[in-house]
Amino acid sequence: MTFKQEGLQALFGGTFDPIHYGHLRPVEALAKQVGLQKVILLPNHVPPHRPQPKANPSQRLEMVKLAIQGNPLFTIDTRELEKNSPSYTIETLASLRQEMGAEQPLAFIIGQDSLLSIHTWNGWEQLLDYCHLLVCSRPGYDADFQDLKMQDWLNQHKTDDPNKLSQVPHGHIFLANTPLVNISATEIRQALASGKTCYDLIPAPVIDYIYQHHLYQN
Ligand code: ATP
Repeated sequence: MTFKQEGLQALFGGTFDPIHYGHLRPVEALAKQVGLQKVILLPNHVPPHRPQPKANPSQRLEMVKLAIQGNPLFTIDTRELEKNSPSYTIETLASLRQEMGAEQPLAFIIGQDSLLSIHTWNGWEQLLDYCHLLVCSRPGYDADFQDLKMQDWLNQHKTDDPNKLSQVPHGHIFLANTPLVNISATEIRQALASGKTCYDLIPAPVIDYIYQHHLYQN
């Protein structure tokens, strides 16, 4: 996709195996808090730090498309899905920076669980040289690191002022106060495999797609 220069741009990466309301609802609330006009969903191709997805890349992309249809907040960037190699966020951010230039304010959205394990990401120390991090609350994960070095890193970059995010191109961490949505893709896959329905956890067109394509069911 092509980027127009228009305020803070935000990306939300994930495996989306499948996409669920735990992805969508907190990010919608975050967008209101921070004043985001658009959120670009960035489905991973081969996530380096986790077991391989159960649904294939085109099925995960199709589910993301179905989940956001008619919702003007979201759009999709398929660059990670199109690459036949591990999806390293730092490389994706570098390629985006080449397209949009150094001055465009750019943010990457993650859940609180991802923040707490960010030191396992390839090149994590450089992430804030490319973007801000916007962090959504997630049930079961609090805002503090056990590791003092990581907590110092967070304290050094944390801001409570969303206005700062569009004043500089990168470098801040904003801990958003988003609704706690107790849903994970792992639980959804397990529920579907044991024959349970998940209509309140996933948008209806996505659940229809899952049944039509016999995904996640034993
Ligand atoms: P899985 O259970 O397969 O690990 P997941 O539900 O955590 O998957 P991912 O696609 O791995 O979903 O997550 C993408 C991003 O969404 C991550 O930054 C993660 O922290 C965030 N996220 C996922 N579920 C929630 C949730 N319920 N609340 C807040 N953030 C979430």
